[in-house]
Amino acid sequence: MQITEIFKSIQGESTYSGMPCVFVRLTACNLRCSWCDSEYTFTGGKKMSPEEVYEAVESFSPNGGLVEVTGGEPLLQEKEVIPFMQRLLDSGYTVLLETSGERPLERVPRAVVKIVDVKCPGSGEGDTFLPENLESLNSNDEVKFVLSDRTDYEYARSFVRRHDLARRVNAVLFSPAFRKHASGTRDASHCLLDPQELAEWMLADDIPARLSLQMHKFIWDPAMKGV
Ligand code: SF4
Repeated sequence: MQITEIFKSIQGESTYSGMPCVFVRLTACNLRCSWCDSEYTFTGGKKMSPEEVYEAVESFSPNGGLVEVTGGEPLLQEKEVIPFMQRLLDSGYTVLLETSGERPLERVPRAVVKIVDVKCPGSGEGDTFLPENLESLNSNDEVKFVLSDRTDYEYARSFVRRHDLARRVNAVLFSPAFRKHASGTRDASHCLLDPQELAEWMLADDIPARLSLQMHKFIWDPAMKGV
């Protein structure tokens, strides 16, 4: 497996936010989202066997707990990643998989909690979501829309309604995009879309989604890696 980093931090997104979590960040991505904060994963990394990665996870969290497999796009290494996630599950870990929605999800074990992005137009990667992935979503899973403006919001709102998304999954997340090179202050001024404005739109539309802020960027300097 090509690995950019393995670390333990506080889960910053999803309904698991606030919980201690081991992150396994895989190298490489086939998309180029305009606001991507993980460009350092596009190249480099270190080759590790699944056994070595498992041992690293175990050293951070020997008694089970939460593990997130992320990237980059982890499903580009599907052949190794799927058995690796199954091994984590078999050992009693709760496994989250953060993925772009552009990769097929059908072979991901059902017990893995999939946190699936639907890319909106402002990302520059709109319409990359694979429609057949809707059938692979279940009531453990979460679908996330990262929003940078009103156009993105309307795209997300329409997608949620058209596919009755709130009934298919555990949570629909609306998350304001963060400025790519944000650093210094730990506040909402770095959001491309003001969370207050987003909250007001969501209330006005009675949208069945959860407003999600990236908690780790309010705890640590938003430029900090490995948190
Ligand atoms: S899918 Fe994720 S890692 Fe890839 S470019 Fe988009 S935000 Fe960055």
